[in-house]
Amino acid sequence: MAIIASNFKTNHTRKSTAAFIKEIDSFIKSNSIKNEIMIFPTATSLDSFEISENLKIGVQNAYPVEKGSFTGEIGTQQLDEFGIKTILIGHSERRHILKETQKQIAEKYNFYKELGYTIVYCIGEPLEVKKLGLEKTLEYLYEQFENIDTNYENLILAYEPVWAIGTGVSATNEDIKAVHEAIKKKIDKPLLYGGSVKVENVKEICSINSVDGALIGTASWVAEDFKQIIENTK
Ligand code: PGA
Repeated sequence: MAIIASNFKTNHTRKSTAAFIKEIDSFIKSNSIKNEIMIFPTATSLDSFEISENLKIGVQNAYPVEKGSFTGEIGTQQLDEFGIKTILIGHSERRHILKETQKQIAEKYNFYKELGYTIVYCIGEPLEVKKLGLEKTLEYLYEQFENIDTNYENLILAYEPVWAIGTGVSATNEDIKAVHEAIKKKIDKPLLYGGSVKVENVKEICSINSVDGALIGTASWVAEDFKQIIENTK
């Protein structure tokens, strides 16, 4: 069974999120989709729809606290109101644009792990590292597991090369295969690929043995496209 996840990033309103989720939900039901479908909407839209058992809804980020004085952040007191038990941690946009350090990421990871959340944990290398070859790429990726308990039962990994995210240029199947196989040898967890996955390439990417699904941004934001992606990986 594959895991197909949509990461909204900072896209969609409450209204369009509700419409999107309704459409995907009924598509899953009427097409007897067996794959696990996950959606990471913006936190401001979490009250705009009912959480259906066909879909797993997660947050793109949260702070490692229940509540407190952390301006601009949300904690588990807020997440609990929506029954959220899934979180994305370590996404490259948070590492690189929001400057989250491995220490902060590990703290977040450990906090949400203690609470039993399903964690989709992202790793990925920038282009200058990729250019140094597979060995250096793997070294770099393994550093992103510092202080991360990879035996955690509710852990899902996502390999997302930074240079492939939002660029329209996905990694080649050979690149994906090489990295996924190496990671899988070390860590026995579901491993998604992310980075310019789209309607046209999702089937081929997901048919690689060591790929357990896809984490998709840009190409998943229109419900019709996401339905096609789900259909293509049935
Ligand atoms: P993309 O983003 O599909 O737009 O490349 C993937 C991600 O950031 O998870």
